[in-house]
Amino acid sequence: MRALQLFADRDLRITDLPDPAPPGPGEVLIAPKAVALNHIDVWGWRGMAFAQRKLPIVVGVEASAEVVSVGDGVTRFSPGQQVVPYSAMTCGTCRYCTEGRDNLCENVAGIMGFHIDGLARGLVTMPERLLIPVPAGIPHDHACASQVTFGTVVHMLFDNAKLQPGETILVQAGGSGIGSVAIMMAKSLGCTVITTVGSDEKIEPVRALGADHVINYTTTSFSGAVRRATGKKGVDVVFEHVGASTWEGSLACLKPGGRLVTCGSTSGVTANINLMQLFQRQLRIIGSFGCTIRNQVQALDWMARGIRPLIDTTVPLERFSEGLERLESRRVLGKIVVTL
Ligand SMILES: [Zn+2]
Repeated sequence: MRALQLFADRDLRITDLPDPAPPGPGEVLIAPKAVALNHIDVWGWRGMAFAQRKLPIVVGVEASAEVVSVGDGVTRFSPGQQVVPYSAMTCGTCRYCTEGRDNLCENVAGIMGFHIDGLARGLVTMPERLLIPVPAGIPHDHACASQVTFGTVVHMLFDNAKLQPGETILVQAGGSGIGSVAIMMAKSLGCTVITTVGSDEKIEPVRALGADHVINYTTTSFSGAVRRATGKKGVDVVFEHVGASTWEGSLACLKPGGRLVTCGSTSGVTANINLMQLFQRQLRIIGSFGCTIRNQVQALDWMARGIRPLIDTTVPLERFSEGLERLESRRVLGKIVVTL
């Protein structure tokens, strides 16, 4: 089978690997059809944590696939069915896994495509418990964004920030994969959505997703613009993933009792916090990483109800690196999808 393997820093090659053995008891053999790119793919490709990873490694963290065959005892899937994998190899038995808090698994063997072989290959063997059926009518190039893109946003907005209808939210980097999804979900819930973009060309596409106020942060101070847009009140929730360059401004945008939820730090990992502001204004800062299997099911429900990923570019497997370069450059608007 064909596979895309990372051999060294920025060295991706299409290789020919032996087909996997037929699936064993409780296992399902799947054929990935589309892979969505995320910042975790860029970090992996740039050599983050190479010391703890075996090389070469098959890349591809989130995907949509078709069932090829099933092992003994598998009851939820049959050949030809569309599925999405939950690509963190959790144990399924620890306290967190049994409580449905999969992204806190105590014995996780790694994230597929980052620590262990991923989904950019012809065939993959998965445990049945880590596969989720896709509702009818969601094509592979949309379903492939159900975990790292949609699931992450569901976990941030609803499990962590507990966003309520009618609240006001600031979504940082509204043109990004997760930012664009956060705008659509918050708007669909009946929230007022303020968002930032890094160039004038992104203003209209992001407004078309439903954002009420769009700020070009390269030409306007976003915290000042948020104060003006909210009559100096501030927002209930900030959706953060930019990191160092926006952190202090994001905290300053919160109203007293507001919540900041963050899942990323693309502009840098270290930031300052004014502790007096934190406790006197009773702010809440919530870290969020990945999603649970339940969040991925909810993500597919959102897609079935018509909230779909904004697709920037679709490229074949041979041009995976080009997709990563585009994501790294931040010229991207929405998702980059790789077809297999
Ligand atoms: Zn576990």
